[in-house]
Amino acid sequence: MKVVTTIAQLRDYIHSFRAKRPGDSVGLVPTMGFLHEGHASLIRRSALECGLTVVSIFVNPLQFGPGEDYERYPRDPQRDTSLSDAAGADVLFMPTSEEMYPRASATRVLVSGVTDRLCGASRPGHFDGVGTVVSKLFHIAMPDRAYFGMKDAQQVAVITTMVEDLNMPVEVIPCEIIRETDGLALSSRNVYLDEAERAQAVVLSQALSQASGWLEDGLNAQEIANRVKDLISQAPLAELDYVEVLSFPELTVPAPEQQLLSGTRWIVAVAVRFGRTRLIDNRIFSGDEVAAHV
Ligand code: AMP
Repeated sequence: MKVVTTIAQLRDYIHSFRAKRPGDSVGLVPTMGFLHEGHASLIRRSALECGLTVVSIFVNPLQFGPGEDYERYPRDPQRDTSLSDAAGADVLFMPTSEEMYPRASATRVLVSGVTDRLCGASRPGHFDGVGTVVSKLFHIAMPDRAYFGMKDAQQVAVITTMVEDLNMPVEVIPCEIIRETDGLALSSRNVYLDEAERAQAVVLSQALSQASGWLEDGLNAQEIANRVKDLISQAPLAELDYVEVLSFPELTVPAPEQQLLSGTRWIVAVAVRFGRTRLIDNRIFSGDEVAAHV
């Protein structure tokens, strides 16, 4: 695996790959590093489906709000290098902030609508930073496919919308959420949790798992959200940011009395703080699957 730190080096590498192997595809896996099995699953999938897999590691200052964890975001480039290599990456792109933003850039990519709720509402400006950096990475690497985890389902909706609206020639591939054995979704931020917080963090995935039964029982969107809130608030260290039940991928609010109908999908999404650590998780339910279980 080749490690590069400049945009010019990455472009050169991809350019010669394309010249040598015309018709072969390039896959991009954008990350902020401190890699885990969730990231590795994206890299492995790209390596299976593409001739060349590029992994980027960049803690993007633009997507962190004031008072968020940009400064203390965990970093371990050495471990990330071996994990990327082992998962099948061909090129690891690790630019500095100066390389990505040599000056205070005047351009932003703003996606509206799908950013109105969830993390778009609770982290103002976050998705402007995400849209801008992902757009830059797409222009730099010009991948045929880009792999994103459904752990950040709203991010998938934002990037898909951006790609469609701006006719970017990239296929966005959503990948399933990888979890610890007790159900906690893997996240680089899990290292912030102390022992008691880690033990209680399992409440997110537990509450989301219960939702399928409630949907089969015919509970409406509002009732599901309330029950998930009730379950999460039973964990004494959990401080709720949001619980929302929305249509997916549109991310609009169903009518309060609405049930999940065949032909539609809902996302049940949660964000919860444990001390200074903010965790997110979600599950997507399809009306057809729920109907099949009734
Ligand atoms: P991050 O480094 O947190 O920005 O994540 C980089 C990519 O990995 C994003 O597309 C995430 O959605 C994805 N990812 C993070 N955690 C997981 C997970 N537990 N399962 C699957 N994908 C994940």
